[in-house]
Amino acid sequence: MKHSQNPASISRRGFLSATATAGLLWSPTLAGCGSMEIRGDDGDEARSVIFLVADGMNTGTWTLADYYLQHRSKQRTEWVQLYQERAVTRALMETCSANSRVTDSAAAASAWSTGVRIDNGAINFAPDGSELEPIHRRVQQSGRSTGLVTTTRVTHATPAAFAANVKVRGEEDTIARQYLEREVDVLLGGGEKNFSAQTRADGIDLKQQYQAAGYQLLQSRDQLLNMGEERAKRLLGLFWPSHLPYSIDRNQQPEIAQQVPTLAEMMRRALSSLEQNRHGFLLQVEGGRIDHGGHGNDVGAVVHDQLAFDECIAVAREYSQQHPETLVIVTTDHGCGGCQLNGMGSGYRDTDQTVFPGIDAIGASYEYLQSVFPSLETEQFKALVQQRLQVEIDEKRQQELVVARAKGGYAVANLLRSWHGSYARTGVNWTSGNHTGEFVELCAWGPGSAAIGQWIRNTDLHPVIGKALQLS
Ligand SMILES: [Zn+2]
Repeated sequence: MKHSQNPASISRRGFLSATATAGLLWSPTLAGCGSMEIRGDDGDEARSVIFLVADGMNTGTWTLADYYLQHRSKQRTEWVQLYQERAVTRALMETCSANSRVTDSAAAASAWSTGVRIDNGAINFAPDGSELEPIHRRVQQSGRSTGLVTTTRVTHATPAAFAANVKVRGEEDTIARQYLEREVDVLLGGGEKNFSAQTRADGIDLKQQYQAAGYQLLQSRDQLLNMGEERAKRLLGLFWPSHLPYSIDRNQQPEIAQQVPTLAEMMRRALSSLEQNRHGFLLQVEGGRIDHGGHGNDVGAVVHDQLAFDECIAVAREYSQQHPETLVIVTTDHGCGGCQLNGMGSGYRDTDQTVFPGIDAIGASYEYLQSVFPSLETEQFKALVQQRLQVEIDEKRQQELVVARAKGGYAVANLLRSWHGSYARTGVNWTSGNHTGEFVELCAWGPGSAAIGQWIRNTDLHPVIGKALQLS
């Protein structure tokens, strides 16, 4: 597999042609989204809300993705274009949780969902043990529909906090059941294992129960794109057993691209279903694996997942242009990994020659290479790593791999990362493998967006959404 291709532009082209042929469009063209005029804050009342989350996005990640897209396709990211056009309300957001300056995704999304800061690790339970009402309930009571779309398991912390209550975020089997009981209308992402009788701890066939309750089950990209005109109102789309593969691996592996839709494709399908409710909807769309790339200090994973997320801003922009009564919020819940481009060489003159060829040359995530390691012969694996990371595996490294495999977890991926050495190859370095505490980027447009101040707390978004949708 060549990695001299242009994954970003291929993925964009593929997205355009795939959606155009699948009858997903509510407008005759997608071209020229960047030149579409965005309606500003026309009054306070919104029919619908689209909430876009680039999970675990450092400002450095945001910048790097924009530089890289310029290098690959002479374009700026959709997010940067919004700022260039001065078309949006922009803010910095403080992301703390109740018990830490550095939040996790569960507490961060709970803050948006309920307006209350809680301890890391819980979903919509206050530190005193009381249960908080997720925003899904209030939106539903207003007659609207709700949808959760993500590249992680759909039961993962960020989408879960919009609709579920669990004291420990890892209770994902429970979250899958709560979505059904609480009638979340659209669920698209990974995490089939939390719905399947074979892999759920209680052995219950939740997929069957969802279907009995009127949900259309989608289990491949083809099924998502070719649903036809019936456009079911309730959708359960599960495209991978756990988190969806990284975009960099989707771009490189045809069998993954065939199975797994892009985040923007899932978002379009969700909008087609949700917009059938004349009262409106709340749709949360999460680029959830940007965070995982940050935890793994994996430059290729982070950049390509950030670009896949960026496509969703174009979709939101187009939708809101045709439905101006839509409030759109674009942000992240926290930074992760501290991704940052560093000046290289004397006077930093080597920077551009380092970063762009360095990222071009990465052809797989460390996670993907770890996942195929057990199934490949030693020589095959050595050749693959050479091709995708330009890393040579000698006798000594082979032994280290065997030891790492026995350890389990991410030990093999961590070894590959250390051998790859992304700092020297790309100029990108990391502060840790943990979440970070920086103030983060946020922008919004549409009814109610002007109420967002220049510097806000994560809890401040809750009343903004509540007021825009006139939730009681
Ligand atoms: Zn994380």
